Amino acid sequence: MIVGAGPAGLTAALKLVERGATPRIFEATNHVGGLARTPTDGEWRIDPGGHRFFTQSEEILDLWKSLLPPDEWISVPRRSAMLVDGHFVRYPLVGRDLLTQMGIAKGMRGAGSLLWSRLWHDVPTPGTASFREWGTHEFGRHWYRKFFDGYVRKTWLADPAEIASDWANQRIKPITWRTPRADDPAEQDVFRYPRFGPGQLWEAAAARLAESGTIPNLHSQVCAVRYDGRGWTLELHDGQTVSGDAVFSSMPLRLLVETLDPAPPRHIRAVAAALRHRAVITVAVALRQQYDMPYNWVYTPGSEFRVGRIQNYGHWSRALAPHDWKGSYLGLEYFTLPDEDTWVASDAGLGAIVEQDLRALGFDDPVIDHLMIVRSRFAYPVYDPTRERNVARIRDYLRQSHPTLHPIGRNGMHRYDNQDHAMLSAMHSVDRYFGAEVDPWRVNTERGHHETGVQK
Ligand SMILES: Cc1cc2nc3c(=O)[nH]c(=O)nc-3n(C[C@H](O)[C@H](O)[C@H](O)COP(=O)(O)OP(=O)(O)OC[C@H]3O[C@@H](n4cnc5c(N)ncnc54)[C@H](O)[C@@H]3O)c2cc1C
Repeated sequence: MIVGAGPAGLTAALKLVERGATPRIFEATNHVGGLARTPTDGEWRIDPGGHRFFTQSEEILDLWKSLLPPDEWISVPRRSAMLVDGHFVRYPLVGRDLLTQMGIAKGMRGAGSLLWSRLWHDVPTPGTASFREWGTHEFGRHWYRKFFDGYVRKTWLADPAEIASDWANQRIKPITWRTPRADDPAEQDVFRYPRFGPGQLWEAAAARLAESGTIPNLHSQVCAVRYDGRGWTLELHDGQTVSGDAVFSSMPLRLLVETLDPAPPRHIRAVAAALRHRAVITVAVALRQQYDMPYNWVYTPGSEFRVGRIQNYGHWSRALAPHDWKGSYLGLEYFTLPDEDTWVASDAGLGAIVEQDLRALGFDDPVIDHLMIVRSRFAYPVYDPTRERNVARIRDYLRQSHPTLHPIGRNGMHRYDNQDHAMLSAMHSVDRYFGAEVDPWRVNTERGHHETGVQK
């Protein structure tokens, strides 16, 4: 039995079917794809995350390619920038831009501050340093404050001094001192993308499963996960129960522990209760005005913006908008906590915030022709200094007490996974179910890997 029809749950199902098992999938919502779905409204499509398909795993790449034919994939050059003091500064940061783009005086100040932090401060200890310590060492105080401090406050909704930095080496690239050459293949960063957004892949996965008789049960929220000493019973929100020999769960780890019956010991429930999530609201706006910024993503760390990041859908896939659309199509991402004003704001309230941000972006009188709002409640597992220890304690407890219960995926393992890592944890869990000595918890634990290059 599989809880969740996101990338991890669907991958587990594909692999189980491949090996002759007959899984059943229970999905709380009315769609497959989880966070990587593509909500649509007529010909308008929205990618709630801005999902770059990039992986270093051949196995994942082969699976992606097997699910969608070549002409349904497009190659997208990755171009990101940070909008700071009115300048679009390329990201990953390039030394020459930093030294000149905002004026030589500011450039020299940044370089001096970087030199100072490198010469006079010790290298922060991996695993224990806060994000602020890590960032100040990596970029120098001046550039850290300009580019990262505000952004991290806005997106992580926490003081960077209180956030662990263990994800930063993986996710944030250092300054490049050599100016990248556009014609050098080694410098290029190109990712794959399903023409109609990420959900196209996951709908194809569901269609593949349907061919072998496995159809995800939608509107089927799992409310209780019971173990009677021999097998498992899932209770759904409508009171229905289903039984099986193993459970692959991509529901948030905290909720899994809460719904387990018999209840785990009190100390396990307490550490699970401390696992938190940030939510994201993506507002897609189709603007009549043309606004050509040559980037897929623009980060907006400044306090003049409420929005944290802007996606330029026209630079992802033109098929996300109607074919005759001539204006701009942007996705504004608002990071929030589930009890904050932005999360509970009405659509009209959000519309007003969006309009303010569009003005800050330079639209004097924005004419919005179409607007879509997607709220993702469990978007980001929060990384605080206790996360690693708490998750390890839950993992060890589950492994010892319930070897046939397999937490998988981003929220299932409370880890900052991209699709490929969520999928790999599902694949390894299926291998484990069939007796292989693999550890799905080791996926995505490399401290220093960056995901760039050309993905063919
Ligand atoms: C803003 C943002 C940007 C991102 N960008 C990228 C990117 O560029 N590239 C990339 O590869 N990845 C990206 N990701 C990550 C990607 O979305 C996730 O890695 C992937 O969706 C994780 O898959 P999953 O199946 O583990 O979890 P999810 O996608 O969260 O799926 C879990 C599913 O379980 C269901 N569920 C939960 N609880 C229950 C329950 N009790 N009963 C039944 N069903 C339940 C949920 O409804 C959901 O459908 C991004 C994510 C976000 C939020």
